[in-house]
Amino acid sequence: TNANLFAALRAAFPADLDGIAVETDNGLFYSWRDLERASAMIANLLDALKLEKGARIAVQVEKSVEAMLLYLATLRAGYVFLPLNTAYQSAEIEYFIGNAEPAVVVCTSRNASWVGPIANAAGTRHVFTLDDDRTGTLLEVAAQCSDKHTPAKKSPDDLAAILYTSGTTGRSKGAMLTHGNLLSNAEVLKDYWGWTPGDVLIHTLPIFHVHGLFVALHGALLNGSKMLWFAKFDPKRIVAKLPEATVFMGVPTLYVRLLAEPGLTRKAVRNMRLFVAGSAPLLIETFDEWQARTGHTILERYGMSETVMLTSNPYKPEQGERRGGTVGFALPGVQLRVRDEKGNDCTTDEIGGIEVDGPNVFAGYWRMPEKTAEEFTADGFFKTGDVGKIDGRGYITIVGRSKDLIISGGYNVYPAEIEGYINEMAGVAESAVIGVPHPDFGEVGVAIVIAKPGTVIDADAIVAELKSKLANFKIPKRCFVVPELPRNTMGKVQKALLRAEHKGLFA
Ligand code: ATP
Ligand code: MG
Repeated sequence: TNANLFAALRAAFPADLDGIAVETDNGLFYSWRDLERASAMIANLLDALKLEKGARIAVQVEKSVEAMLLYLATLRAGYVFLPLNTAYQSAEIEYFIGNAEPAVVVCTSRNASWVGPIANAAGTRHVFTLDDDRTGTLLEVAAQCSDKHTPAKKSPDDLAAILYTSGTTGRSKGAMLTHGNLLSNAEVLKDYWGWTPGDVLIHTLPIFHVHGLFVALHGALLNGSKMLWFAKFDPKRIVAKLPEATVFMGVPTLYVRLLAEPGLTRKAVRNMRLFVAGSAPLLIETFDEWQARTGHTILERYGMSETVMLTSNPYKPEQGERRGGTVGFALPGVQLRVRDEKGNDCTTDEIGGIEVDGPNVFAGYWRMPEKTAEEFTADGFFKTGDVGKIDGRGYITIVGRSKDLIISGGYNVYPAEIEGYINEMAGVAESAVIGVPHPDFGEVGVAIVIAKPGTVIDADAIVAELKSKLANFKIPKRCFVVPELPRNTMGKVQKALLRAEHKGLFA
């Protein structure tokens, strides 16, 4: 049998290929037959290039259905898809293309004048353009190709994609994901999240990242489900479409922005079955407010580029309640453990490093064998770099990243704990606690706080209130109230930037 992920997705298309597979926010409709034919044509284009086995197809384009079809075509033809964040500029593209050495680069016509030369310098033989209005050389050439294509024969261990991590903690690394990684995870989620016939997904996430490209897209395709496709997140238009949908997936900031829409009511979500959040921590306040406003409990899950999805709050009530502030249980097939620095298993509620194993765990970092070796334990578990704990009922809570951990005077300080107390205080919208160098303590905490709109908060009062609640070594030595936190496109707070900004405070 063929382990090509495309073959599995294609097998899940409904029998009636004339039904609608995708409806876009600019009024276009794509049938399942359109997906079948267009992905065949682009796959035939790639085949005609006579690329070597394992060739990378690097893609930096605006989100469009055709960009998604290029992904499906790459799988179908058996090459390796390498999506790049649309925000990246020349220095970043130079690094990624130089590092990945793709055989094919697809970019927007607007960027072709500078992406082209970078690609040529890296030895790329084929550069195509693709724009979000169904134009560009890729589609012009594909239009000449046959619309019949037999999926390339693949084994579960063959590479399907290289996904660069978000670069939250340092330079992005290319996570090599196989057909087996992606398909096994998609199948587990289909079952765990109770995908059913008739489900309709609102797809509004970018497709250069694990959340939109894998979790959302594979979820809908493997269920033969229609997608309501949004090129950009537009809260008003999303709210207007909610009555036609059953499943929504978003990063936490999208939920915050939807809550700001008066149109978000119980009536608007009456047909919804599931709201999924992930990629960054969901504030308990957002979780509670969503429940109060819509009657729905957001299901928070946890994953990463290197492993796709790892844990999830339960979908079915008989598996337990969805608990805000936690990321639920390890998914079926995922082995997850929490260990201390010495490599001993932590006890219930004890904080340590999260390590995982399973069919979803990646094949290693692209061209970084030492880094890959460092991140795996002797018995083959991947060290996620996240720090967390497991409670008596098995719920997993993430308390931060090991790189964000503060060691002050020899004591571990977990930023998420301090942030939790600050976020509860009157007038506080959110906060970030970071460690900065200190001559006596090695490191001390510094709190960066955002006020709720229209409120004024006093930085000293925050510190004073913390002092009444927490041990002295946990108290941030300075507190700043600022208008907003630096975030990347996935809504992740960039603590490395905050640390760099404040590193000289106690020097
Ligand atoms: P880099 O590895 O380059 O520093 P990154 O880790 O942000 O960047 P991704 O692979 O996109 O890149 O993100 C995975 C990380 O996102 C996880 O390791 C975890 O820290 C965080 N994350 C994902 N889901 C959740 C969640 N539900 N709650 C808290 N953190 C989450
Ligand atoms: Mg990471």
